[in-house]
Amino acid sequence: MTADHPATAPFPQGPFVTHAVCRICGKTVAPRDMGYVCPDHAGELENEGILDLRYDYQAARSAFTPEALAHGPRSLWRYRSLLPLPLDAETPPLATGWTPLYESPRLARLLGVARVLIKDETRQPTASLKDRASALAVAQAKSMGLTTVACASTGNAAAALAGMAASMNLNCVIFVPASAPQAKVAQLLAFGARVFTVQGSYDDAFDLCMAACQVRPWYNRNTAYNPFMTEGKKTAAFEIAEQSGWEVPDRVFVGVGDGCIIGGLHKGFADLQALGLTTRLPRLMGVQAAGSDYLHQAWHNNEALLTKPAIQARTVADSISAGLPRDRLKALAAVRETNGAFIKVDDPAILQAIPTLAHTTGVFAEPAGAAALAGALATAQTSDLSPTETICLLITGSGLKDVTSAIKACSDQNLAPTPVPIGRRGLDQVLEGLHAKSSLYPGLPSSR
Ligand SMILES: *Cc1c(COP(=O)(O)O)cnc(C)c1O
Ligand SMILES: [Zn+2]
Repeated sequence: MTADHPATAPFPQGPFVTHAVCRICGKTVAPRDMGYVCPDHAGELENEGILDLRYDYQAARSAFTPEALAHGPRSLWRYRSLLPLPLDAETPPLATGWTPLYESPRLARLLGVARVLIKDETRQPTASLKDRASALAVAQAKSMGLTTVACASTGNAAAALAGMAASMNLNCVIFVPASAPQAKVAQLLAFGARVFTVQGSYDDAFDLCMAACQVRPWYNRNTAYNPFMTEGKKTAAFEIAEQSGWEVPDRVFVGVGDGCIIGGLHKGFADLQALGLTTRLPRLMGVQAAGSDYLHQAWHNNEALLTKPAIQARTVADSISAGLPRDRLKALAAVRETNGAFIKVDDPAILQAIPTLAHTTGVFAEPAGAAALAGALATAQTSDLSPTETICLLITGSGLKDVTSAIKACSDQNLAPTPVPIGRRGLDQVLEGLHAKSSLYPGLPSSR
């Protein structure tokens, strides 16, 4: 029998962490006493007190300067003075963060705005933004002396944790619902994770993971229970600002499921403002699938998040499918406090955005990643975008994550290869075919 105790405080804190605040009751928790959640209502199902870390920004100002950052590594660890991790802690070797920020004049013309910036998170080690959070998770686990990390997930968070754990020689335990796609499970197994397929839903898998973490000394990476994942994800906001010369875009569009990424963006942009590096917050635009629009409903109808029941979620964009978004408090605050909005887009629009994004920028996204563009297109159609503004699309995951959806997206658009015979007859047909081909994207400038 192994020791019957959970991994508890103290968590690694980093040089400038001062305390944490409960997002539900406002209680202040000192670093030494910090667990994953607020002690006053830990264990209350679905409404555990998610914590929010606070830093001494005044003291951090001298370490977190554009000049000092310019000499940092080309990864998310350039921002480690503002992360909950000791400065000498070991970090995973996989190249995480510092993903490209591309400008797309073609999308700017299509959307009728001054500039469109594409933040390309498909370039992360396991091909989604989740690597930012999982890299921090394994670094924290290692510095706590833990040897096993765990989470419940249907996809990218699990892949990210399993890959990061493999890179640091940590054990990884993953709980997935029995319905998890075989390809995703195969990726976990290849990374050496111990995978349990739970005979139930994602929520059942989540509950089982939580129960196991109560009785084993495992690092628990579960989204919106572990407050540090927001901190890892906020580095995307740091990069958008630094790569824009410490300007922030007017808006950022991002696909929203549990709401942890949009909450992390809010945190990151707010940190930069507190440090005096930027002067405003971008408007955060949370894009939800019409079949998984809990947060859109709550925002639009002004519903109370702690009492609104789960909805039945159903969308092709599996990474943003969430019946009860686990990080809903931070997500709603992100939109409200930045004068942003939630937008809902239907599955055909999400799928259509995959080839549109790929064709105009060269970036190939999974449905949840392309949802950012679908949301911007929907906003442009209500003529709610200004011709003078700069918008950023956060492309959260790679198209190679979900090849089935990519194939469907292309066939829906009548994008198909043209069969030709070999030899001379084939050449004639190739030349004829090229001549006859008309633009599939009438709204766009010629691609030639
Ligand atoms: C997890 C994920 C999202 C949504 O993030 P939340 O924090 O759940 O809102 C969007 N896109 C991709 C590719 C993801 O993996
Ligand atoms: Zn509390």
